[in-house]
Amino acid sequence: MFSTIIANMAVIFMPIYFYFRSNYAISDKKNFTFQELSTFVVAETLVGVALIHLSVFFMGVPIDGRALFFSISMTYFGWKITLPSMLLVEAYHLYVTGHAPLLMGLVSTFVFASSMYVVKIVAAKRLEAYGQLIVLILYNVVLKSLTVFFVLRDLPRTILFFCILGSVSYVIMSGLYLQMNDLRILRERSDYDYLTRLLNVRKFKERLEILEKNRQIAISIALIDLDLFKTFNDTYGHAAGDKILWGVAQVLSAYSAPNALTYRVGGEEFAIVMVGMTRKEAELLIVDVMDNVVNRPIPLNREQLTSVTLSVGLAFSEEGESLNRLWKRADRAMYQSKENGRNQLTVSSGSEGKVQKKEINQF
Ligand code: GH3
Ligand code: MG
Ligand code: MG
Repeated sequence: MFSTIIANMAVIFMPIYFYFRSNYAISDKKNFTFQELSTFVVAETLVGVALIHLSVFFMGVPIDGRALFFSISMTYFGWKITLPSMLLVEAYHLYVTGHAPLLMGLVSTFVFASSMYVVKIVAAKRLEAYGQLIVLILYNVVLKSLTVFFVLRDLPRTILFFCILGSVSYVIMSGLYLQMNDLRILRERSDYDYLTRLLNVRKFKERLEILEKNRQIAISIALIDLDLFKTFNDTYGHAAGDKILWGVAQVLSAYSAPNALTYRVGGEEFAIVMVGMTRKEAELLIVDVMDNVVNRPIPLNREQLTSVTLSVGLAFSEEGESLNRLWKRADRAMYQSKENGRNQLTVSSGSEGKVQKKEINQF
C-alpha cells in the first residue's frame, strides 16, 4: 500500500516537471499553442492511465491518484488541458473495465470535470493555489466517500474512509504543492532581475533566439541607458542609485505586454523588445516611455526627489537581418544618442548602420 502511494506520487510528479521544463522559455504563460496543448493532453492521459494501473482497493473500493492529479492539473494548467485528458483517461478506463457504456461514462466524466472546474473557479475568487487545491481535493474525497456510503450503507465506516482518504490525499497534495512552489521560485529567480523585478538579460537573449525562429513578424528593439547615472551614485550613494533603478523599472514594467516585453540588460541599461508593431507604433511607444520616465519624480529619501533622463536607440528588423545584428544596430543608435548630447532617441535607419536622430522636444 505504502509503495503504491509513493509510486502514485512519482507518476504525478512527472508531468509537473515536464510542464515546468517545457514552459521554461516563456514566463507567465497563459495561452498554449495547439501543439503544446496536445502534448500536455497526451502526457496527462498517459499519467492518468498509469494511475489507473496503480490503483489499490481500500475498504472495498478502488482508489487511485487520478483525483489528486487532475485537481493539480485543474489548478495550475487549466481546464483546456485537464478536461480532454480526463475524458481520454475515462475512455481508456471504460474500455479496460467495460463497466458502463462509453457515451454514458464520458458524459458523467464531462459533468464531473465541469463541476471540478466550477469548484475551482469559486475557490479561486477567495483562495491562493494551496487553498484551491485543498477545496478541490476535499470535493473529490467527499464524492468518493458518498460512493462508499452507497456501496457499504454504513455511516461509521464511511466516516473512517473519509478521514483516511482525506488525510492521505492532504499529505500527498502538500508534498506536490511544495514541489510546484519550489520549481516556480527557482524559475522566477533565474528569469527575473532581483533588484528591478524585470526580466533579466538571459531572458532577453532567449527571447531573441525564440523570435529568430519566427521571422515573419516585425520586430523592434529599443535599448535604454540612464544618463550620467554614475553621478547619482557618487552624489547620493549606491542605495539611492538602486532606488532610481527601481523607479525607472516601475515605469518600464507598466508598459510591459506580451508584444512589448521589458528587460534589465545591464547595470543601468534596459531593453524593450516589440513584436508585430509598425515602425510608427514602436516609435510612439518609446517616446511615451521616455516621456513618462523623465517626468516622473523618484523619491531618494523622505525629503529629496530626483528625476533621470534616458538615451535610447531604436532599430526595426529588416528582411534577412539577424536579430543579433538588429540588437547591435539598436546599441549603435543608443551610443549616437549619447554622443549627440544624451536625453534623446535615435532611430537606426537601416542595416548599413546609419542612424537618424529624432528630435524629441517634449523633455
Ligand atoms: P552615460 O550617460 O554615459 O551612460 O553615463 P553613466 O554614468 O550612466 O555610465 P557609466 O557606464 O559610466 O556608469 C554606469 C554606472 O551604473 C556605474 C555603476 O556604478 C552604476 N550601476 C550599475 N549597476 C548598478 C546597480 O545595480 N545599482 C547602482 N546603484 N548602480 C549601478
Ligand atoms: Mg551603460
Ligand atoms: Mg548610463
